[in-house]
Parts: sequence; structure tokens; C-alpha cells
Amino acid sequence: MRTYHTHFGVPLGNTSGWWDDRKRNQKPVLPLYLRLDIPSNLSRALSCLRLSGHNFLVQRMRHDRNRRPYELRICDRCYWHTIQDEEHILLDCPYEHLVRLRTQQQLIFPPQFEDGPARLRNFMNQPDIFGVASFVAKCLALFP
Ligand SMILES: [Zn+2]
Repeated sequence: MRTYHTHFGVPLGNTSGWWDDRKRNQKPVLPLYLRLDIPSNLSRALSCLRLSGHNFLVQRMRHDRNRRPYELRICDRCYWHTIQDEEHILLDCPYEHLVRLRTQQQLIFPPQFEDGPARLRNFMNQPDIFGVASFVAKCLALFP
């Protein structure tokens, strides 16, 4: 849930005019990847990532017998000593298999990839949904 709210959620209540009846009555819109015609295994991969239905340590150590505080869910695939969450795995982790996947998908990783708090959201919402989805599916497959 934290992932969803941090990176994908639309804030409620603090957008201007939220309490305006006309705006409130608008139908919610599905995310773009669910409205496009992409293979179901790829849209499933994106859904799993967005809803924490993956096997990254940030999620695995949330419910297991090995439950640990958030700050201690450290990536076991690299030496960065940082939390193994969605952003780290997709964009940063120097684990060789992930680096190889990123270099194979150059089109979704432009040379001057932006930095900042919204980088995962911007990455996920870029126009090449198919490329992002196939990359995400391959990343999730590395964490069975
Ligand atoms: Zn790592």
C-alpha cells in the first residue's frame, strides 16, 4: 500500500476543488496500462508491482516470520546497503542481471535519466508502456 500511495496514488482531498460536486462525480479512470491492449501477463506484472504483489525484501519482510522494520529490509543482491524496494530494483540496483536488463531496454532508460522524488512514477508512466511492462515482468521473474 505504501508503494501505491507513494508512487502511483492520486492524492485525495488536497487537490483544488476536490469538494466540488462536479469534480467529485467524475468517474475514476483506469491507469493507462489497463486501458491499452497489452498482453495480460505484462499488465499483470505491472499490477503486481503497483500493488506490492512481488517478492522484493521490502515486501517479503513485511509479513514473514522474518519480519523486520522498514529500514532493515536491505537489498541482498548488491552492496549499496539500501532498502530493496521497487525503485531500487527497477532503477538503481547494480545487481548484474538487473543491469543487463536495463542495458537491453535502452529505449526506456534515456541517457540523462532524471533524478528526484517522482522518478519511479515518471518511469512507470512513460509513453512506452509495452517496454516498461516487459522490463518489469523480467525484473519480477528474477525474484521468484
Ligand atoms: Zn540492490
